[in-house]
Amino acid sequence: MKIFVTGGAGFIGSHLVRKLLREGNEVVVLDNLSTGSLDNIADVLDNPALYFTEGDVCDKNLTLKLSSGCGQMYHLAAAVGVKLIIDRPIHTIKTNIYGSEVMLETAHQHGAKLLIASTSEVYGKTEKVPFCEDDDTIYGSTTHPRWAYACSKAVDEFLSLAYYRQKGLKVLVGRFFNTIGPGQTGRYGMVVPRFIDAALKDEPIKVYGSGEQSRCFGAVWDVIRAADMLMSTEDAFGGVYNIGNDKPISIMKLAERIVELTGSKSEIVLVPYEKAYGKDFDDMMVRQPSLEKVREKTGFKPAYSLDMILQ
Ligand code: NAD
Repeated sequence: MKIFVTGGAGFIGSHLVRKLLREGNEVVVLDNLSTGSLDNIADVLDNPALYFTEGDVCDKNLTLKLSSGCGQMYHLAAAVGVKLIIDRPIHTIKTNIYGSEVMLETAHQHGAKLLIASTSEVYGKTEKVPFCEDDDTIYGSTTHPRWAYACSKAVDEFLSLAYYRQKGLKVLVGRFFNTIGPGQTGRYGMVVPRFIDAALKDEPIKVYGSGEQSRCFGAVWDVIRAADMLMSTEDAFGGVYNIGNDKPISIMKLAERIVELTGSKSEIVLVPYEKAYGKDFDDMMVRQPSLEKVREKTGFKPAYSLDMILQ
């Protein structure tokens, strides 16, 4: 099959591209190399089944032309990374919403199946009732610096489901949770590569906040397998699915485990959020998916434990 991947030179995209090529597909990649890099796909660049173009998914004509003949499409291109989305909220909203709209329209015109990558950030922090206009306890608050990313991805989800209902497009939404693996860089504040870099250099490992906040880290190989399984399941379209691992670990324990595994002399230091990201920054204490829906639909279960990925 001929498959179109936006963001295919990024962290998750490059793993997906390699998997699709291994399985004998032709893969067309569109990436503007803003956060991705050709280094991520250097090992497959001379594969005759790979067609790479540097360009922007928001360029409607280019996207439509390049993806002609593709029966499946994965839309992974997005403005991502905590630092980027806080520094450039307008760019984040425009890229993520318009990019998805272009992909929905493109898939519709070509009669292709489409996966839209969303995020666990859309769950926000709904703990306090009743809701008050100026609460910053929910990501829905327009004053919240991370709102641009969560909101843009939430709009992408609504748009996708509207295309499914109104136009019959075979589209599904993968709500990715924290994904880790080879090729992810610490440049945009991603916690695991940042800790491993520091540990390997015996430099202090900076844990933001109290360190008690927990996350579930999914292996990139599991994430792309789940995405692929969903795309091959006819009655998965029109649905939204959590994708990741459901075993939580606190960020402090993660730092300690990385020190242990690397035999590092690094000390672990606590840094207040405001020093790292500015004064309004706040974070979710827990982020854990239910994987029931994807399991029920496809039989997917994560194969990699955190230790296996870290090793
Ligand atoms: P990444 O930054 O490595 O990949 C994104 C890719 O998209 C990059 O190669 C970048 O150059 C490209 N890109 C950005 N804007 C573009 C544009 N306008 N046109 C063309 N290409 C563009 O990030 P990633 O971690 O691989 O994320 C992939 C997708 O998964 C994103 O949609 C992201 O929101 C989602 N996601 C990732 C995680 C995670 O933990 N990594 C978690 C939740 C959701």
